[in-house]
Amino acid sequence: MTSKKYYLLRTGMEGQAAFLSWMVCAGASQISLYVRWKFEIWVAPSRKCSGMEIVMRKIEIYIHIPFCVRKCLYCDFLSFPSGEKERERYLDALLWEIETQAPKYRDYEADSVFIGGGTPTVLTGEQLGRIMRGIKAGFAFGKNPEITVEANPGTVDRGKLEESLKAGINRISIGAQSLNDRELELLGRVHLSEDFFRAYRLARKAGFQNINVDMMAALPGQKLEGYLDGLKRVTDLEPEHISAYSLIVEEGTPFYERYGREGKREKGTEELPGILPGILPGILPSEEEERLMYERTGELLAAQGYGRYEISNYARPGYECRHNIGYWKRHDYVGFGLGAASMVENVRWKNCTDMERYLHCMEARKGQREGTSEADAAEGIQEERIFLSVKEQMEEYMFLGLRLTEGVGKEAFYKTFGRKIEDVYGDVIRRLQGQGLLENGKQVRLTPYGRDVSNYVMAEFLIGI
Ligand code: SF4
Repeated sequence: MTSKKYYLLRTGMEGQAAFLSWMVCAGASQISLYVRWKFEIWVAPSRKCSGMEIVMRKIEIYIHIPFCVRKCLYCDFLSFPSGEKERERYLDALLWEIETQAPKYRDYEADSVFIGGGTPTVLTGEQLGRIMRGIKAGFAFGKNPEITVEANPGTVDRGKLEESLKAGINRISIGAQSLNDRELELLGRVHLSEDFFRAYRLARKAGFQNINVDMMAALPGQKLEGYLDGLKRVTDLEPEHISAYSLIVEEGTPFYERYGREGKREKGTEELPGILPGILPGILPSEEEERLMYERTGELLAAQGYGRYEISNYARPGYECRHNIGYWKRHDYVGFGLGAASMVENVRWKNCTDMERYLHCMEARKGQREGTSEADAAEGIQEERIFLSVKEQMEEYMFLGLRLTEGVGKEAFYKTFGRKIEDVYGDVIRRLQGQGLLENGKQVRLTPYGRDVSNYVMAEFLIGI
């Protein structure tokens, strides 16, 4: 029995009497929290209220900044170039969305904030500060929240970094992607390797003590030695966290035109007229080379003191990204801004991806501020709202949880769903274990071989019930 979980017992009162006084103190809106407590399916930190402890559930906050200096050639994220006026207009709309939606989450406290994109650092330090003030005004925060901003090395300066820190941002994720200038040009990035080193040094000097560096593998023309050399040079800088993803050639991108279809690989030795004049991109590494890059990434980073805690994420002990772990463990999260996704109490929704519609809806509501309800403010931008069935929750729990090195705990599964994992997935787990893809102890987790074919393993849990 943890002191956090049994907050009512700590007050010396039990049952109905405690519940009634707590309702007076906390407001009737927290009835659902009491019900959850009664069935012991979650744990939350607590805060004091007139001598009583009130449970605050954890929530992760995501803020989407859809602006970039220009579009990278492999990118299919919701991002585009913008002018100063559009950025200001967007910021007003975003802050209005946060202000009107935040009251729905008064029973929660934020454990992490992730300002992502896009390139949040195309905003000024003052604008980033304004976003942080908006979030702080709307949300309660737990102890030591993790607050991250994503940065493109071509868009940071000392002043912006210092203002970000002052505003409460305590983690920076720098998108290096490669330290090879030819590869960076090929990707269409706005920065070169020297910009990355400069941005990294500036972030440290400004005072960031938690830095992530994003790297990419399996780029066209990339060789194992060159990739590992870049990775080693990143570890020499001693960031706290490294993400290393393989390039995925997404439909609808210039990269897809060249590499995305059967038979396109061999064309990589030709110039890309109109896209990258003068650059000979080279062909994509083979699947075997890509697998080798992945394996060696783990070995190199382990030797430098970075543990792999998720398929593509590595950290020094204690610096695992709490925000992303929240997604993989299916914590509640709420997203603000264009296209931002949310999942709260197993209801999932997404904001619209049309900028004009987003701005128009927010501005129209702001114009009618008097009498605008929280529901009204969200109306018009939220779409694809679905309540996840228990079956869908279990599927997500498995395929997200298996991304983590620790895997899925059997006890945690039982606490969450009230059913033994064997009763739901026994056959699938035994079959995958027999194929050498899963370990089946107190935790169910991927073997190294299972990690190589993780998409296959996870798909088995979608059709396994
Ligand atoms: S900086 Fe990131 S979000 Fe922006 S275009 Fe490039 S890959 Fe996409």
